[in-house]
Amino acid sequence: MNDEDKRICERALQKWGRDAQLWMVVEECAELIKAVAKFENRGPSPVINTVAEAAAKAEERDKLVRSLIEEAVDVEWMLKQLEIMEGTELDWSVARQAAKADLKFLLGMEETT
Ligand SMILES: [Mg+2]
Repeated sequence: MNDEDKRICERALQKWGRDAQLWMVVEECAELIKAVAKFENRGPSPVINTVAEAAAKAEERDKLVRSLIEEAVDVEWMLKQLEIMEGTELDWSVARQAAKADLKFLLGMEETT
């Protein structure tokens, strides 16, 4: 995390407090879940009869993509705050490396240790 992001997260934690920000982690994760569900469930209809329908579907899809990105970024910010709240930098670094190694193993990119 860069210094500016760390300062912003620390300021947020000072302003709203640890408990409120923990609940914001939950809230933002729920909003991302909802955005993913909408994206998957309300994709383009297989039957489009008019240019107007196609345009409306394209607009709807753009809106769903924007919502997905916005909610994912909200979650990113809350995870940064969670990183400052709990554990040490080393804890997070070790967990990131372990998760990366596991993913690479699952993808056949590298042997796990
Ligand atoms: Mg949100």
